[in-house]
Amino acid sequence: MPLPAISEFTAQNQGFFVFGVIVFALAIGSFLNVVILRMPRIMEQEWRREARQLLESDVTFASGASSEPISLSHPPSTCPKCGHRIRHWENVPVISYLFLRGRCGRCRERISVRYPLVEAATALLSVIVALRFGATWTGAFALLFTWALIALTMIDVDHQLLPDDITLPLLWLGLIVNAFGLLAPLEDAVWGAVLGYLSLWSVYWAFKLLTGKEGMGYGDFKLLAALGAWLGWQALPLVIILSSLVGAVVGVVLIFALGRDRNVPIPFGPYLAAAGWITLLWGDSISAAYLSTISP
Ligand SMILES: [Zn+2]
Repeated sequence: MPLPAISEFTAQNQGFFVFGVIVFALAIGSFLNVVILRMPRIMEQEWRREARQLLESDVTFASGASSEPISLSHPPSTCPKCGHRIRHWENVPVISYLFLRGRCGRCRERISVRYPLVEAATALLSVIVALRFGATWTGAFALLFTWALIALTMIDVDHQLLPDDITLPLLWLGLIVNAFGLLAPLEDAVWGAVLGYLSLWSVYWAFKLLTGKEGMGYGDFKLLAALGAWLGWQALPLVIILSSLVGAVVGVVLIFALGRDRNVPIPFGPYLAAAGWITLLWGDSISAAYLSTISP
């Protein structure tokens, strides 16, 4: 289903369309950096508040006011070393980083290269999605899907955590998108969510009963449920296979190239996210290519 006015324009102005997507996606990438940095802190703050309420139910709540509450927009971004408040011109995605040569404008403390990398990666992946789906409703929702997966990937890498505040809305959005049949029939999407959750849930319990260890977390079940809701249950085997492949490749690289200790837990979320993204874009062609190789 094309977006009427835009699709006609972009069909004739491909370069302008790609440029527009890049600029827009860089701004989104900048916002994702804030989400990646702050959402875990907001969650921790929330857990502390709830724990305090449970433990000190008869003590007044006043102690909670001591630390200033964090939200996505408050307090404004500052340099972690000197407290210099980041001005607007210092906050232009990628460009400001290059202009400041990766250092704080006041104290010259190094700024993590991760910020411009997340922005650039968001732009790159968004262009791939835009070229694959064009200016369609499917393309617009595929961009939302992509951005949510980027945030989940980075938060999981940092904290071994997939926030419910992202996985659950992503799951609902997948069902809504497919209520309009954009990516899969609604019935396939519902079973995708159910089977996505249950498949990893069963693996988790089998692994735990056999080894006494926890190989993954409940966030992984919710993420695969969300992927099932977006892609339909038929896509789940491919998502699992691809995530194992991506995981094996990245794991080997991490162990041999970076000498990473193989006992350090590597989060599973990023591989699921990568596999879900690849399946959204090229799942049909991958399955078709596979089927044509096994049947003469
Ligand atoms: Zn500074």
